Amino acid sequence: MRKHYRVVIVGAGTGGISVAARMLREKRHLADDILLIDPETKHYYQPLWTLVGAGAVKKEESVREMMSLIPDGAIWLQDRVVGFDPEANQVETADNGSIQYDYLVVSPGIEIDWERIKGLKEALGTKQVCSNYSYEHVDYTWETLRGFEGGTALFTHPASPVKCGGAPQKIMYLAEDYFSKSGVRENSNIVFGSANPAIFDVTKYREALEKVLDRKRIETHFRVNLTEIKADEKVAVFENLDSHETFEMNYDMIHVTPPMQAPASIRESKLADAGGWLDVDKYTLQHKRYENVFGLGDCTNLPTSKTGAAIRKQAPVVVHNLLDQMYGKVPVATYDGYSSCPIVTGYNSLILAEFDYEKVPQESMPFNQAKERHSMYILKKDFLPLLYWNGMLNGTM
Ligand SMILES: Cc1cc2nc3c(=O)[nH]c(=O)nc-3n(C[C@H](O)[C@H](O)[C@H](O)COP(=O)(O)OP(=O)(O)OC[C@H]3O[C@@H](n4cnc5c(N)ncnc54)[C@H](O)[C@@H]3O)c2cc1C
Repeated sequence: MRKHYRVVIVGAGTGGISVAARMLREKRHLADDILLIDPETKHYYQPLWTLVGAGAVKKEESVREMMSLIPDGAIWLQDRVVGFDPEANQVETADNGSIQYDYLVVSPGIEIDWERIKGLKEALGTKQVCSNYSYEHVDYTWETLRGFEGGTALFTHPASPVKCGGAPQKIMYLAEDYFSKSGVRENSNIVFGSANPAIFDVTKYREALEKVLDRKRIETHFRVNLTEIKADEKVAVFENLDSHETFEMNYDMIHVTPPMQAPASIRESKLADAGGWLDVDKYTLQHKRYENVFGLGDCTNLPTSKTGAAIRKQAPVVVHNLLDQMYGKVPVATYDGYSSCPIVTGYNSLILAEFDYEKVPQESMPFNQAKERHSMYILKKDFLPLLYWNGMLNGTM
C-alpha cells in the first residue's frame, strides 16, 4: 500500500467524487495519483430520501455501489480518516496508518447526532417515530404516513445546521397532501416545531411558503428545539429558545430532523474553526491556514445552505484553485454561496429556491420560481437524479 499521493480526498460522497472526476478530466496525468478515502461500500443520492419517505420513490433508487462511481484513474481506499496532521501533510486512517499528500481535499460530509435528543435513537423506526435522515429507517416514514389515522402529526427542525435546510418541511407538505388523499386530513392537526425564527431565510421564498402553510392549515412554532421523545407516551419535549422554558407536546406521529455537527475527525483537528467546521475561505474554498488544503460540502463553515446543489458550484472552484496552487499560480476562482433547495410542497408541486450568500435569489429558470409548479416536481423526481449520476459525478456538470 502506497503511503504518499499527490492528491488525497477525504470522503467519496457528493463532494469527493465530483472533485476527483473533474480533476481527472482536466489533468489526466494525475491518474493513479489521486486517492479517495471512504469507509462505505455504498454511495447515496440523499435528496431522493424526501420522496422515499413519502412513498413516491423506492429507496433502492438512491443508492449505488461505491466502486461503480470511483472515477477511472482515482484510487479508492476503503478506510476511515480518524485524524488530520496538516503540518506534516498527512492524514491518519483507522486501518492503514498515516498517508501523506501534497494536496488535500476534505469532504466527509456532516455527522448526525441522534443521541442529542433523549430517547430518539432507541425509538427511531418504531412507535411512529420516523426520520428521512437515515437510509436504514427512511421506509418507516412512509409506513408511518400510511398508517396514520388522524390526530397530531408533528415535524421538527433542530437547533443546528442541517443538510438540506428545506428537507424537514418538505416531508410535512407531502404528508399533508397524502393525508388529504387518504381521508384523515380533516381529523388531524399538522404541527411544525422549528428552532429557526421563520419558515425560510430568503424573503421571496419565505413569503411563498407562508402562503403554503396557511393554505394547508399547518400550525407553526418557531424558536423551539426538540430535546426529548417519550415514545411510549407519545410526548415530545421542547425547549423554547428565547425563554429557555421546556414544554411538552402530544403527538400521534413524529418526523424528526436530528441535530447535526461537523465530523469528529475535523472537530478535533487543526483544520477546524471555533465551531468545529472545516475552516475555509468562503470564496476560494482554500483552507484559511494551510494553503495546500481545500474543502467543500457539508463539513465546511461556508455560510450557506448545505446541499448537493451548492457542491455542484463548489467543486469546479476547488479544482480550479487547487490546480492553480499546484502550478504556482494564485487561486482566483470564487464561489458566491450559491445553493438551491427544491421545496416539494405536495406530490405534484415544488418551489425551486436558488440563492447566494446574500440570500438574494439566483434563479436559473425563465419564470418565477417561488410559484409552485408541477414541472419543477418532475425536475426533482426524474431529472435531477439523472444529472447527478451521469453528469455531476462524472465531472461534466
Ligand atoms: C433527507 C435529505 C434530503 C436532501 N435533499 C436535498 C436536495 O433536495 N437538494 C440538494 O442539493 N441536497 C439535498 N440534500 C443534501 C445533500 O445530500 C448533501 O448536502 C450532500 O450529499 C453533501 O455532500 P458531501 O460530499 O458534503 O457529503 P456526503 O455526500 O454525505 O458524503 C460524505 C462521504 O464521506 C464519507 N466519510 C464520512 N466520514 C469519513 C471519514 N472519517 N473518513 C473518510 N470518509 C468519510 C462518508 O462515508 C460519505 O461517503 C439532502 C439530504 C438529505 C439527508
